[in-house]
This record gives sequence, structure tokens and C-alpha cells, in this order.
Amino acid sequence: MSLPKFTYLAPASLEEACGLLDQYQGKIRTKAGGTDLMVRLAQRALKPEYVMGIRNIPELEGISFDPDKGLRIGAMALLSEVADNPVVLERYPMLSRAAKATATVQIRNMGTVMGNICNASPSADNSPTLVAMNASIVAVSSAGERQIPIDEFFLGPGRNALEATEIAKEILVPVPLSRSGVSYQKISPRSKVDIAAVNVGAMVVVDEQGTCQQARICLGAVGPIPLRATSAEEFLLGKVITDEVAEKAGALAGSDASPISDVRASKEYRRLMVIILTKRALLEARHGTGI
Ligand SMILES: Cc1cc2nc3c(=O)[nH]c(=O)nc-3n(C[C@H](O)[C@H](O)[C@H](O)COP(=O)(O)OP(=O)(O)OC[C@H]3O[C@@H](n4cnc5c(N)ncnc54)[C@H](O)[C@@H]3O)c2cc1C
Repeated sequence: MSLPKFTYLAPASLEEACGLLDQYQGKIRTKAGGTDLMVRLAQRALKPEYVMGIRNIPELEGISFDPDKGLRIGAMALLSEVADNPVVLERYPMLSRAAKATATVQIRNMGTVMGNICNASPSADNSPTLVAMNASIVAVSSAGERQIPIDEFFLGPGRNALEATEIAKEILVPVPLSRSGVSYQKISPRSKVDIAAVNVGAMVVVDEQGTCQQARICLGAVGPIPLRATSAEEFLLGKVITDEVAEKAGALAGSDASPISDVRASKEYRRLMVIILTKRALLEARHGTGI
């Protein structure tokens, strides 16, 4: 497939990138790995006059951990780098699992976690766990920086909360609380290398007796954005997460979902999978609390 004509720009600093976004507002698209963007250009779904590659911007690189602030995933950190990063594997293993579940080796070596969430696909692999872990996105423009809670980031399929003059700089994920556990579950028509038919991220925090103090559950591919399962979350508070409780929470998550039928799955199958994957996620997350 051919690409439409565009001018390629490759700024070497964030300041330069923000200047280009100001100058060509409405006519320019940011490109990280290009694994989503290039497909959209080839399909003529987007026809920007300018494409701005951000690979040469040092401020967007890297993955780091601060014991007070938590994890920082730079916008240009590749899916494969997040999947294999030692700190991520040790402290945020479900972020690694989600990155590893995304696409193929080749795509993971080109595409970024930031691109995956900026693309705002409801079925994206990395969104549910980041929502469950209460991440935020740092956006930068010539006017300065702002931090967008991930709960406010997704606006609809392909739409996020970034302004046209903003670039997403990094993802921040809080330090996991003690006695917290996280899980990521995915099901797709093919067992490997496929977009999720349904995916679920869950985080629970329990007290010394195992009673649930906090629950965040995010359902993917069953609504226009990654959805919080709020009835299931509320139900869990104050309860010990037994098999029975997890099953009931799963059923409530099923009613929180608003799936549609498409080539990947029927809405009935999706709802059933939400019920099953939520239960599975909660039991794994509870296990992860160590209580
Ligand atoms: C064959 C194939 C299989 C795939 N399988 C999966 C899968 O199983 N699961 C899954 O979740 N995804 C899958 N994808 C989608 C894709 O690979 C991911 O969404 C990828 O993570 C996007 O990252 P990128 O760096 O390539 O983003 P790009 O394509 O560069 O950008 C994606 C979008 O985000 C914007 N953007 C990127 N970075 C920034 C930034 N820093 N600031 C502002 N805007 C930005 C771009 O303008 C664009 O709109 C697949 C894609 C292909 C082609």
C-alpha cells in the first residue's frame, strides 16, 4: 500500500517539537513507532501535511523508577523495552505482561506503550493495567506541562485528551501500595498475536485481614473507551475476596460492560468473557497481595 504525500519533520528537542505543533496546528501528526499511524495513512484515514517523528528527542527516552514517585515510562520507550525492563518485571510485572501481549516481536520492537494508549483503541493491550494502577500522562506544549489522570485521558475510539499543540511526554505509575495486587487478563480469537476480544486489568489493596480497601477494575474492548467496572469495584469494598466474592464481582462487571458484536466476537460472548476474566483477574490480584 502506498502512503499519501507528507513532509517529514524530525525535531531534536521537546521545545522544537512543541514549536512545530504550534506552527502547523491541525496539519501535523506525531509519529512514535508509526505502527498504528502508518496504517492509518496508508488507508487514507488520515492525511496530515506534516508527520513529526519524535525518535530523536532525548527527553522522551527511558524507563526509570523512583521509590517516592514511582515508575516513569518515557514516550519513546518501546513495548519490548517495557516488557523486558528489570524494574518493570520486579515491581510492575503486569505492565510487562500487557506489553508482551501486544502484537508481534517486530511490532514490539518499533511501537511504544505511549503510542498504544495515545491511539485510544478501546481494545489496546496496555490501557487496562495502566488504568487499574491509576497512571497519569504528562503532556507538554509551549505553554508548559500538565498531568492528565488516565481516567480522563480516553475520550472515545481514537480520541484522547491531548490538545492539538501537545505532545505526550511520559507515563507515570504510582509506587504499588503494600498489600496490593494487580492482574492483566486477555482473550482474543487467536491465542497469540491478536487484538483483544476482551481484556481486563485489576488492582486490589487489602488490609492485614485480607479485607478489600481499594479496587480498580478496567474492562477493554467492551465500550468506546477502556471502562471502569464501578459496580464491581464498589461491591468489593469491605469484603474478603473469596472465590464467591470474585464471582459476584465478575457478574457485576458483566453488567458494567457495554459490548458490541464485531468480527472478533459477539456481544454475548464478550459479556461472558468479562465475567470470567474479571473473576480470574481478581483472584490473581488477591494472590498478589500476599495475604
Ligand atoms: C499487525 C499489527 C498487530 C497489532 N497488534 C496489537 C495488539 O495485539 N494489541 C494492541 O494493543 N495493539 C496492537 N497493534 C497496534 C499498535 O502496534 C500499537 O497501538 C502501538 O503500541 C502503537 O505505538 P507506536 O509507537 O507505533 O504509535 P504510532 O503509530 O506512532 O502512534 C499512534 C497514535 O498515537 C499518537 N502518538 C504516539 N506517540 C505520541 C506522543 N508521544 N504524543 C502524542 N501523540 C502520540 C500518534 O499521533 C498516533 O495517532 C497492532 C498493530 C499492527 C500493525
